[in-house]
Amino acid sequence: MPIKTISMEITQSEILQKLDHTIFPLITAAAGALHLETYVIGGFVRDLILRRPSKDIDIVCVGSGIELAQEVATRLGKKANLTVYKNFGTAQVVYKDLEIEFVGARKESYNRDSRKPVVEDGTLEDDQNRRDFTINALAICLNQDRFGELIDPFDGLNDIYEYRIQTPVDPDITFSDDPLRMLRAVRFASQLGFFIEAETFDAIERNKQRIEIISSERISDELHKIMLSPKPSVGWELLDQTGLLDLILPELSALKGVETKEGIGHKDNFSHTLKVLDNLAKNTSNLWLRWAALLHDIGKPKSKRFDPKNGWTFHSHEFIGMKMLKPLFQRLKLPLNDKLKYVEKLVSLHMRPIVLADDEVTDSAVRRLLFEAGDDIDDLMLLCEADITSKHPDKVKRFLTNFRLVREKLKEIEEKDRIRNFQPPIDGLQIMEMFHLPAGRIVGELKSAIKEAILDGEIPNEYEAAHAYLLKLAQEKELI
Ligand code: ATP
Repeated sequence: MPIKTISMEITQSEILQKLDHTIFPLITAAAGALHLETYVIGGFVRDLILRRPSKDIDIVCVGSGIELAQEVATRLGKKANLTVYKNFGTAQVVYKDLEIEFVGARKESYNRDSRKPVVEDGTLEDDQNRRDFTINALAICLNQDRFGELIDPFDGLNDIYEYRIQTPVDPDITFSDDPLRMLRAVRFASQLGFFIEAETFDAIERNKQRIEIISSERISDELHKIMLSPKPSVGWELLDQTGLLDLILPELSALKGVETKEGIGHKDNFSHTLKVLDNLAKNTSNLWLRWAALLHDIGKPKSKRFDPKNGWTFHSHEFIGMKMLKPLFQRLKLPLNDKLKYVEKLVSLHMRPIVLADDEVTDSAVRRLLFEAGDDIDDLMLLCEADITSKHPDKVKRFLTNFRLVREKLKEIEEKDRIRNFQPPIDGLQIMEMFHLPAGRIVGELKSAIKEAILDGEIPNEYEAAHAYLLKLAQEKELI
């Protein structure tokens, strides 16, 4: 793996400049008043060196983090919001757009039989030893006489400069103590564009099975961060290479591989999916749309057939995939509300614009798509455009041109018929009143007949037309 290096190393004066925010001298004064050795530590320091913006500040002091937070909050006055977590020995101060966490330096020792570490008060060194990666273990002193001094026991600075993720101590111990760190390694690699150093990588492979003791919520938090990284495929590839993917999302592992029959192979649906995801990530930061891209083809393995005439087919994979989503969301403790519905909708509809673009684009087909996609139509089109991963420029050009036509047609029909948030111009209650009908099957049939007639373009989406159409139908059914 070639070693990239960061463009310019940070200087002491730049560190001081980055600690220019009023909050830091204030913490210095509070720490002075309480005679506490105090440091800013972890992600904030890493991001400062990487010149990435960061709003979360972690403060460690040798002594009581809660007392220091109280002193800081008092000095900030009404503008600050203090929350104390007595059981954890931590406190948080929210001040303007900053979230500042305070904790006393601690030493952690893990027992193989228990997931929870034994926590004791410790020194800064103890606290740095319990950190996950060298790049996250750097601290900067905030005390008056040492303000701005960098404490870097594991040469994390060099790892930042060389884009390297490695654990500060034996990686087998780091990962077995807290297996979530394996996912964090992958997440940082994806988020920051770093690589995982070989020994650390091998230890993830060896310890992968331990991920099973981590709660689904904590796993999903990391997966979301992988999803939101600039090139999410980096994270998913690493999950695959380390073997974690099989344990976390086997539905995705099942997309891997190419089968060949009678000399005909199909594409590798895993790498195709990751391409779609990266394509989409260039155009949207919508987390759930990215999830839809990751999961859009998970129905393929179950629908795969070989037909000597047509080669490989994946009929109805979009519906099979849609059905797989709820149990998957349940298992990963992803939200089962409108987010699931949204992903289900996009997965189930993802073939529709393609079929539209292939066939002649009729008004009624466009109307039906608009009706089913509603306000998510633009997201669906983004997904479908990202789904074009062909290596043949001619094909790509043809698909994109067809999608442009579909988009034009969608716009034209929406302007004319307002189908996106379609409500039939006559509702069930009105139908019951018109024909003195009780609630029941016939009302439902009449209601859906109006909907169908509008979607087919037989009548416009207007009250008068729907009323006349209903009367005609009622006569035919001898209701009047
Ligand atoms: P982000 O804010 O993007 O999540 P971060 O590095 O700030 O990145 P946090 O989860 O906020 O991550 O954690 C803050 C710091 O706490 C980390 O930089 C690391 O030093 C330490 N840390 C967090 N989780 C762990 C863990 N599971 N094991 C060891 N150290 C951890």
